[in-house]
Amino acid sequence: MAVATRDYGLWIDGAFVDAEEVRELHEPASGELLARAPLASNDDVDRALTAARAALGGAWAKTPPTERSRLLHALADAIVANRKELAELESRNVGKAISSVKLEVNQAVENFRFYASAIASIAGRSSPIGGSLLFYSLKEPVGVCAQIVPWNYPLTMATWKLAPALAAGCTVVLKPDPATPLTALRLAELASEVGVPPGVVNVVPGDGPTTGSYLVSHPDVDKVAFTGSTRTGAEIMRLAASPLKRVTLELGGKSPNIVFADANLDDAIPSSVWSIYYAAGQSCEARSRVLVETSVYDEFVSRFTDAARRLKVGDPLDPETQVGSLISDNHRQKVHAFVEQGRDEGAEVALGGELQNGNGAFYPPTVLAKVENRMTVAQEEIFGPVVTVIPFADEKEAVAIANDSKYGLYATVWTGDPARGHRLASRLEAGSIGINMPYTAFPGIPFGGYKQSGFGRELAVETLDLYLETKSVLVATGSRAFNPFGL
Ligand code: NAD
Ligand code: MN
Repeated sequence: MAVATRDYGLWIDGAFVDAEEVRELHEPASGELLARAPLASNDDVDRALTAARAALGGAWAKTPPTERSRLLHALADAIVANRKELAELESRNVGKAISSVKLEVNQAVENFRFYASAIASIAGRSSPIGGSLLFYSLKEPVGVCAQIVPWNYPLTMATWKLAPALAAGCTVVLKPDPATPLTALRLAELASEVGVPPGVVNVVPGDGPTTGSYLVSHPDVDKVAFTGSTRTGAEIMRLAASPLKRVTLELGGKSPNIVFADANLDDAIPSSVWSIYYAAGQSCEARSRVLVETSVYDEFVSRFTDAARRLKVGDPLDPETQVGSLISDNHRQKVHAFVEQGRDEGAEVALGGELQNGNGAFYPPTVLAKVENRMTVAQEEIFGPVVTVIPFADEKEAVAIANDSKYGLYATVWTGDPARGHRLASRLEAGSIGINMPYTAFPGIPFGGYKQSGFGRELAVETLDLYLETKSVLVATGSRAFNPFGL
């Protein structure tokens, strides 16, 4: 079931372009060579921005909304037609279980379809003011967008960024993580094949501190959209300040999963296992802090651990696999260092926590029990298959612990009391709250952070506004001249 590995260029102005610098990509799960991937130089970024600017004022500006909608549907169809290739490419490149990646590819399709329809909602408003003034507003694309995406969901993140930008009529220079550029490059090629004009989508993989910071500080960029770590997000905001650009940031998380004693544990336990271990814990909205009411704490830890032990960890391309490898051995070492720190801080390793031998950046599903929220492992984003389980005495303490975090991306609540679910929804500091429901991302539902998890919302109609300017037009309709100075 091997993908014919091919060499990829940069994607600029509707074509693959050779890069001066090329890097070998190895599959994290096996160490085998996957592809040779391009790295963009500053000159390449300049060329991509020139193409994006030309398309913005040219072919793309002449493409009416109905035609943009048709193109987004056509791109969704092209993803469906190429889903096997895209899923394999993503799975090999990231090391992620193909069972998860298939769902991500489906979501990419749905996301393009959602924005194909959402284009119909782009409209200004109009009202008469003071009797003789007519006001109306025009919605215009914000311009050329620099979009920077991470390695954990390369195709999904490219999709979340591209779809609203294209729906709004913007053009894009997308910078994937240099370790995972393949599906974004293929997506750009598919967009071109279905008729998206040259220059509308450009893809320039490269390292963050060089290619990324050059792009973000470039004077010809109007807006920056970023997904990644809070630390890099802060740097992006600084770089985007001169000249000033619009910025949206989707950053890290340490999301709580709160389990009350009155919850249906038969649902809460397997769902909680999924909520941390899918994508091997490398998700910004991973529910990495599980808060459990004291009276069911021991039972929960024991049943959660039994379930996590049964997860199928292994070859990402095996359809039975539930947890693949991590992105790299380097990242695995960082994850393990957090686990060691948790041990030192007094957490109990109830499952996993051992570095394994053999090929591939695998790390076992790990459970840290008897965790206190002040511990580093409960405060910092580990970004691996490591859950921290923290006891709480009552509802008040659950809310206090949940909110005692610099992050606020997601929170999940498990309770048999519907009123309590709604009470927590209003008290928890997070961009999204799931009540008795583990899933997090649906095209159409706003997704994004409170606090240090960033600002701006993705996946929703609201997102379009972040890619649009509002222009107010004021028209005199009266017959009297104004002559304000009485001249
Ligand atoms: P990162 O934030 O440094 O990288 C994300 C993207 O930003 C990549 O494309 C990278 O090349 C780019 N980038 C980095 N520095 C840049 C700069 N100065 N200017 C412009 N672009 C820049 O994340 P990382 O170093 O790959 O991972 C570190 C940690 O970040 C992870 O362990 C995890 O905790 C967190 N993370 C979060 C997410 C998320 O989905 N929110 C994604 C990836 C990583
Ligand atoms: Mn990085």
